[in-house]
Amino acid sequence: MAPTRPGISPHPGADVASPSRTAGPRFIRVLLSGGTSGVVLEGETIRAWGVDGSLAADAAGRVTLAAVGERIRWNGSRLLGGSLDVAGAPDLRVGNRKVAGRVRILARKGDLLAVAVEPFEAYVAAVVSREASPRFHPEALAALAVAARTYAVGAAAKPRDPAYDVVASVEDQVFDGMDGVAAVFREAADRTRGVVVRYRGELARTVYHSTCGGRTEDAGSAWGKDVPYLRAQLCVDCADSPVYRWEYRMPEAEGRRVAKALGVPPGRDLRIAVTGRTPTGRASRVRVSSGGVSRELQAAVFRKAAGYAKVRSLKMEIVPAAGEWRITGEGWGHGVGMCQYGANGMARRGAGFREILARYYPGTVITGESP
Ligand SMILES: [Zn+2]
Repeated sequence: MAPTRPGISPHPGADVASPSRTAGPRFIRVLLSGGTSGVVLEGETIRAWGVDGSLAADAAGRVTLAAVGERIRWNGSRLLGGSLDVAGAPDLRVGNRKVAGRVRILARKGDLLAVAVEPFEAYVAAVVSREASPRFHPEALAALAVAARTYAVGAAAKPRDPAYDVVASVEDQVFDGMDGVAAVFREAADRTRGVVVRYRGELARTVYHSTCGGRTEDAGSAWGKDVPYLRAQLCVDCADSPVYRWEYRMPEAEGRRVAKALGVPPGRDLRIAVTGRTPTGRASRVRVSSGGVSRELQAAVFRKAAGYAKVRSLKMEIVPAAGEWRITGEGWGHGVGMCQYGANGMARRGAGFREILARYYPGTVITGESP
């Protein structure tokens, strides 16, 4: 949970080290924006320190920062050094995001990087808040917090860059700041503080998805590489998910667009069909053909071209109809690992977060600080 900040304390000093260098991660460095020429900071009081720990600048309300080569221009006037640690009181906003910790601003060859140094559990809570509904059962949220933390601890042990551990987008986990992070999310992170999932001593790949639609998927079938604890599990607990069953009526024009994007010039005889399935019944191959051109491709490539929010999973059937393709399916997401709605269903039936994790990551061990 984010500590409340009564005001701006002195320069943070060494506490912005990568969490991998501390016994248990206390902070995680999240790249909020990079490769931009400017960043806007907002806070009632804003204060910035240079690398030597001396106060470099302060302001009230709003500050615009810009990169000038390897230096930072403060509010369009003063030229400061290439690295600033910024804090705000009572809080600090970077772009549209409210951060829980401080922000390190770096100038690199005319680009400005904004790196939030977030208390680890605040980051976990924020990630879960983007993934799950606040109406989820607390035990399901706790299981998700453990999964998100396990990923983050692993990522922080292998930083993406000397200046940051993770990025704030889907390439890692979506971090949108602390706005809208309801108490239930902070509680889920707090009560599982430090808990991670391991397999044979190593951090597990705790992947998850919205809804499996009845059976999770093998990592080997989805991604071509078997993972001992990411194997298909029967799951009847997600039946109340709004996307347990779905239908997408892909209009003819959209089918033509997708075919074209996949390298098949669409004629009147355009055909799109599932030609291969995994043992759990998910589409593995899709054939797109028209005229003399026929392409069989990975079903995941088709799903990406058609749109992840339209073709919500590969547990689907494609049926040509008049002027459209009727695509009906089950679940949302890749189906590997923990099914979030399944976790919620289990929790409602009385399961605790450890039981939930053991079900979706069989053979793993749950370790960490929380009793
Ligand atoms: Zn499920």
